[in-house]
Amino acid sequence: MPKVFIKTYGCQMNERDSEQVATMFIDGGYTMTDREHEADVILINTCSVREKAELKALGKMGLLTRRPEAKPHVVYGFMGCMAQSKGDELFRALPRLDLVIGTQKYHHIFRYVDDILRKRLERRMDDLSLSLAGSSVCDTDEETGSQNAIRDHLAQTGHSSAFVSIMQGCEMRCSYCIVPSTRGAERSRPMQDIIDEVESLVRQGIKEVTLLGQIVNRYGKDEHAVDGKSAFVRLLEQLNGIDGLERIRFTSPHPIGFREDLVNAYRYLPKLCSHIHFPMQSGSDRILKLMRRPYKNEKYISLCESMREARPDLAITTDIIVGFPGETEEDYLETKRAVERIGFDNAFIFQYSPRKDTPAAAMDGQLPQSVKEARNQDLLATVNAIAIEKNAALVGTEQLILVEGPSKTNADRLSGRTPQNKPVIIEGGSELIGKIVPVRITESTGFTLYGEIAPC
Ligand code: SAM
Ligand code: SF4
Repeated sequence: MPKVFIKTYGCQMNERDSEQVATMFIDGGYTMTDREHEADVILINTCSVREKAELKALGKMGLLTRRPEAKPHVVYGFMGCMAQSKGDELFRALPRLDLVIGTQKYHHIFRYVDDILRKRLERRMDDLSLSLAGSSVCDTDEETGSQNAIRDHLAQTGHSSAFVSIMQGCEMRCSYCIVPSTRGAERSRPMQDIIDEVESLVRQGIKEVTLLGQIVNRYGKDEHAVDGKSAFVRLLEQLNGIDGLERIRFTSPHPIGFREDLVNAYRYLPKLCSHIHFPMQSGSDRILKLMRRPYKNEKYISLCESMREARPDLAITTDIIVGFPGETEEDYLETKRAVERIGFDNAFIFQYSPRKDTPAAAMDGQLPQSVKEARNQDLLATVNAIAIEKNAALVGTEQLILVEGPSKTNADRLSGRTPQNKPVIIEGGSELIGKIVPVRITESTGFTLYGEIAPC
């Protein structure tokens, strides 16, 4: 049985796509390995959102293809966003590369790899010099319906949570972002397919699903609202009705499609978790306009307030870009003030990274690295101080934890999450994995909470 090693960079969507690719190899008789040196097939699922992510993937593949001990038949492939954006120029950078597969073609990877590997192994039998010429494949075309191909999952043994991709692509064209060109136009999956997929996951023991989309709340955007409810809210209602499913999350929503029906969903859908990851990007209206984000900061803040009114224990996390072209000190301070006013539970802070063929990359006022770094560190300190304070306030409270598995830092303990998506470490046996248990929070060390099972 040939062995496949997949390394994934980037977002949850990439993780989900890699899982789909893995299922196809397993169905085709291959096995997965997490040891790259024993693999017959090495695939890297790439991210293009920031330059750093691209450099990491290129560096990793460079190291892997140049290993002196590597077996000559090994098939090497790039898939995902960087594969889509760079295409066959990747073969020039890495001559030993065999495959470059774009974001609408994940479901063809098995066939391409299997074909190359078979030919290579057959040829090796007659010709030990093993000519590799002419075997490379670059497929980055669009494919109608490709969003429907991300639907299979690995066996869910020992898992309590799963990602479910409900749509692909983005049409917003934020001026800094490469995603519309790497992921294509917005395409949603049929609602019934998603419901069937979630029901099947629940039958395998899954308790929590996270719905994925670039602008997840634009799911089914071309469908008419029914009783004032968007397709996304109707999907949430359907999933809320599935017996055995306990928790529903989604990421990432955008203020543009965020209407009253979705705010209200936090009032009457008990399985919808009390956490939202809601990218703000900037607190300055001037910068939001340059970013082509179609909202003002007051609108963003009023949405946060409405959601908190609908669900008082809602945790809000966000994405923020610092050092966007032309961002003045005052613009940055507006972002910092917005962070303090909203009181995020946590935030990913990104230094602006110029991306190929995006309008922002050609804007005047590109800022030096030192300014981006200083604003990043300053904002991180603000975000961390708020996060630590919020976590400390949970000490002494009782929280319902979905136990996910052994803690990554200490395998003798278990780790789980609150509905607010905060990690909690507890003592306990493996029989608790996959269960939702009441836990009294006893300690907070900044970002991690510790607790003990609360007596019934
Ligand atoms: N679709 C989501 C939205 O619009 O809110 C976000 C998806 S994007 C892949 C994830 C995050 O990467 C964005 O929220 C943004 O903060 C960040 N990002 C995107 N392009 C970037 C760039 N050129 N430089 C730095 N950060 C970037
Ligand atoms: Fe990128 Fe903007 Fe689309 Fe999000 S909404 S994926 S940031 S273009």
